[in-house]
Amino acid sequence: MASLEKGGWIRAESPDSADVIIVNSCAFINAAKQESLNAVLSHRKAYPGKKIILAGCLAQRYGTRLEKSLPEADLLLNTEELERVINVLGTSSGREKGKRPLLSPPGSAYVKISEGCSNWCTFCAIPLIKGELQSRTIPDIVAECLGLLDRGIHEICLVGQDVASFGMDREGGELYQLLMTLLKIQRKFWIRLLYIHPDHFPYNILKLFQKDPRLVPYFDLPFQHSARNILNEMNRHGNANTYLKLLEDIRGALPNAIIRSTFLVGFPGETEADFRSLLRFQQNAELDWMGCFCYSREEGTLSYKMNRQVAKRVAAERQSILENHQVPITEKHLNHFIGHTIDVLVEESLSRVLYLGRIFAQAPEVDGATVIHSNNPLVPGTVVQGTVYTRLGFDLQVSVNN
Ligand code: SF4
Repeated sequence: MASLEKGGWIRAESPDSADVIIVNSCAFINAAKQESLNAVLSHRKAYPGKKIILAGCLAQRYGTRLEKSLPEADLLLNTEELERVINVLGTSSGREKGKRPLLSPPGSAYVKISEGCSNWCTFCAIPLIKGELQSRTIPDIVAECLGLLDRGIHEICLVGQDVASFGMDREGGELYQLLMTLLKIQRKFWIRLLYIHPDHFPYNILKLFQKDPRLVPYFDLPFQHSARNILNEMNRHGNANTYLKLLEDIRGALPNAIIRSTFLVGFPGETEADFRSLLRFQQNAELDWMGCFCYSREEGTLSYKMNRQVAKRVAAERQSILENHQVPITEKHLNHFIGHTIDVLVEESLSRVLYLGRIFAQAPEVDGATVIHSNNPLVPGTVVQGTVYTRLGFDLQVSVNN
């Protein structure tokens, strides 16, 4: 989008007023592929005369095949070509300089610190699409973060397929150095890490969290499973005991730590006994937040050819059992916030006295929200202090002390 703006293109508010429609696609599981294809098909139907570009991971993964089978897209642009979009479309008269448009809710931005992944989990198509891990340099990331802070961003979410691997494609892990460098910036902000592979959790970062509250103690550790045999087949090397020990260590070092995890059910060979052991792990782990996905059989991955594929119906049942079991655990944990005064990032105004926002325990888009009551006007993108007075479902209700 920045390249396009640089070339004089202007972002349309809706496809109705656009000259070109770009569908930036996802392709790592079937549901995502279908959603991306549907976006192309529905836009072609609605806008028969407009140019439609299918960009991103779906084009990367199935480019040659789609060239023949998807005439509804005028052009495919794979992930390596995204920045060349301007060469394809040409420049247009208009503005001169473009900078990264901010698409997240006010006050928050994602900063990608690496691309690709070298963990090669046997169910995952991401290394096939994105390739091996490629870390950005620390100065490059810091420059982007400084630019975002200058534009009023309060929360920087450092993202990567596995941020614990940051720098492993060079001398060795550099996450600690990256965080140290970012914390030298003398401003008020939050840094949130998104996705740490639990098999190589970088323990040295915990002391940075203890020293500096700008690193929000929120850890997203996608365990995927807890049964040793299943994890082994997934090319992951933990088990229920090592993962419980990790949680104990994090919570020991940071008593207010919030932990989110993701489970994958229906992996080939997952038996009832394996699933029951996952349920036991869920009870013992007492996660604050949990997401659960059904296995998607992806061609090209090692698990594609594994025997004993689990029926989709069984996987869906297991997913719903895990999700139901999580509800009281998450609610109990959220209740701990009631009565506490806490910083809230304001994201949206709902009315003159009602706003939506998030506290550190709520990552953007995936966790619950915080409803803010304030008699004075609040500005989205800023941080206010409020007292939590109740919980509604997975949302907290806060009144601002003004
Ligand atoms: S660590 Fe994540 S992105 Fe990397 S291969 Fe495993 S599941 Fe895929």
